[in-house]
Amino acid sequence: MRQPPTQDVAPTPNRNENSAPIVARILSILRLRNLSVVGLRVVVVVLMAAELVGPRVYSCCNCRNHICLHDDIISKAFQGRNGRAFLFSHAMNVVMGPKEDRQLMTGLHTVADIYCHDCREVLGWKYERADEEAQKYKEGKFIFEKSKIVKENW
Ligand SMILES: [Zn+2]
Repeated sequence: MRQPPTQDVAPTPNRNENSAPIVARILSILRLRNLSVVGLRVVVVVLMAAELVGPRVYSCCNCRNHICLHDDIISKAFQGRNGRAFLFSHAMNVVMGPKEDRQLMTGLHTVADIYCHDCREVLGWKYERADEEAQKYKEGKFIFEKSKIVKENW
């Protein structure tokens, strides 16, 4: 059975919020609190540790299974079934539903829904194929609904 059209807008260039220099982050914290030099050293150590601990992970909203990395976000300007959605270059710990053709706002696409490997929550979809040349950059990429993923301790 054919699904109703899913909203899907072409992404606008996305500023990479992830690349905010560490100095800017420190300054923003300093503006919030009147920190002493000792306090500043603590902040620097904490931020450096956060950088070293590893990538920022998004988890399944239902079971906290790790499913994608913040660094893999290509665009935050997508619309899912339930609001905002992000386009990711990679996904992990997900299973794919059957491929199906869907008429989206930006044309005909072959997509497959993606589910959490552990709890089977529907998290978004994978673009298998795009008809139009301008949309082909989405092929092999993943949409995760913002409402279905949660930041894991960051
Ligand atoms: Zn899950």
